[in-house]
Amino acid sequence: MKFGPQCKICRREGKKLFLKGDRCNAAKCPLLKRKYPPGMHGPKGYGRLSEYGVQLRAKQCLKRSYNILEQQIKNYFKKAKRLKGDTGVNFMKLIELRLDSVIYLAGFVNSRKNARQTVSHGNIFVNNKAVDIPSYQVKVGDVITPRPKKEITDKVSEQLTSRKDQGLKSWFNVDAKNLKITILKEPEPEDLPKEFDTKLIIEFYNR
Ligand code: SF4
Repeated sequence: MKFGPQCKICRREGKKLFLKGDRCNAAKCPLLKRKYPPGMHGPKGYGRLSEYGVQLRAKQCLKRSYNILEQQIKNYFKKAKRLKGDTGVNFMKLIELRLDSVIYLAGFVNSRKNARQTVSHGNIFVNNKAVDIPSYQVKVGDVITPRPKKEITDKVSEQLTSRKDQGLKSWFNVDAKNLKITILKEPEPEDLPKEFDTKLIIEFYNR
C-alpha cells in the first residue's frame, strides 16, 4: 500500500495527526499497522532521543498538525510569554483561537488543511465580512459563517451533517441549521487539546 506524504508525517512523529480528514478515522490509517518511521528498511523503531530531541519532536507534532509556519509558532510563544498567566496555556489558546482552527473544530471542514484553504480563498465571513487570513484571532462575540454562496454553504452543511461527534467545545456554539459559529468565551485550560505536550514545546523555545 502507498502512503501519502501526510501519512509519512504521522509515521515520522509516531502519532496520528489527523492530516487527511475523514480518512484518518478509518481502519486504513497506516499508523495503526505501521507504527514505525517511514523508510526503506522496515521497522527500526523511533530510537532514544536526547532531551532536545524530545522537545523538538513535541514542537514538530504541533507544527505539522496545525500546519503552521515556524515563525508563526515562535510569535505565538513570544506573545504567550508577554501575556499574564501560564505561558503554555496562553500559547495553546492563541493557536486554538485561529480562525482556521475554529472552523475545523466546529466541523465546517474535515481537516485543518481544508480549513486553511477555505479561509484563504475568502469563503469564511466573520461578523458578515470576508476574512481570508487563516491566523486571524477570533474574539468573544464573533459570529462566523460561510460565504453565502450555494456551492460553499452546501459543502459546509454537508460536512456538519456528516460529522461524527468530535466532542464539541463549550467555548463556542455551532448553529448547524443556520451554519453559524458563535464564540461564547475564551477556551479554559480544560478545553485545550491534550495531545500536545506544551511543557516540552515551551522548554524548546525557552532554550
Ligand atoms: Fe494518514 Fe490520517 Fe492516519 Fe495520519 S492519521 S497516518 S494522515 S490516515
